[in-house]
Amino acid sequence: MHTAATLPRSVDPLGAHDVEHREDFRRFVVEDAEPWHREQLGRLYQLWAQGNAAYFDGALVPPYILLTEPAGPRTYVDCGAVSGFGGRSQNRIRPSLLAGTHPHLRGQLDGRLRFVADVLLHETIHQWQQERSGQTEQAWHGHGPAFRDRANAIGRALGLAPVRTAKRRGSDRHLPSCAQWPHCVRPPDYYLGAYRPPLADPGDDHAEEHGPDAGAASGCATTLTPDEWRRVHSLVARRVSDGLGSDDAVEHQCWRRLLDRFEERAR
Ligand SMILES: [Zn+2]
Repeated sequence: MHTAATLPRSVDPLGAHDVEHREDFRRFVVEDAEPWHREQLGRLYQLWAQGNAAYFDGALVPPYILLTEPAGPRTYVDCGAVSGFGGRSQNRIRPSLLAGTHPHLRGQLDGRLRFVADVLLHETIHQWQQERSGQTEQAWHGHGPAFRDRANAIGRALGLAPVRTAKRRGSDRHLPSCAQWPHCVRPPDYYLGAYRPPLADPGDDHAEEHGPDAGAASGCATTLTPDEWRRVHSLVARRVSDGLGSDDAVEHQCWRRLLDRFEERAR
């Protein structure tokens, strides 16, 4: 399965010890880890295995999945080609996402788990790029045409709308970016109200390229003073209380989300 003959030349095939160690690591985690880690990581390994079977022909070897802070202070997760001890393929998932203390997630565990499952699925595409296809798409921060096509193939199976690459160009430029896939194309209620992403800052030129692994939390408009937040909050609240003047459910939802966010900020 992981012989040099079946892989592109740009991919260094996994050795037998690599595969054995990664499978041993998974086994230790799901059987012998401390209870909280065993439960959470056990669930994540199950989700990873389902994704590997359903969307990658079972061709991937379990990565090292760690509940620990990723490198970027604002990222949810990262997928490193090389682990902290020199093994291959390491996913670091921010523990607060599952603990319920992350500022972008709240509510019941069910909704948070759906979000983390999506984060993991996104990272599994990066693992595929690193270990199978070799198309790591550095110029796109990993979110180029190959990532887009794989995301859209999985998305079709999940009934999700298509996405474009992280660079807004070409005939699909009107679509959301695959850097935020699949969060950006999930129905609004899919996460059961648990996911509350920050508002994008229109001045952030790189917002397009931010994903769960590239600073998704960035772009929060922190440049307003508390007084300005209160003023904007009252404007939005007035707009909502005056009636929205439209039957568009998506527009209503946007206004209500805006109001929610400004209420948090204006406190
Ligand atoms: Zn990504």
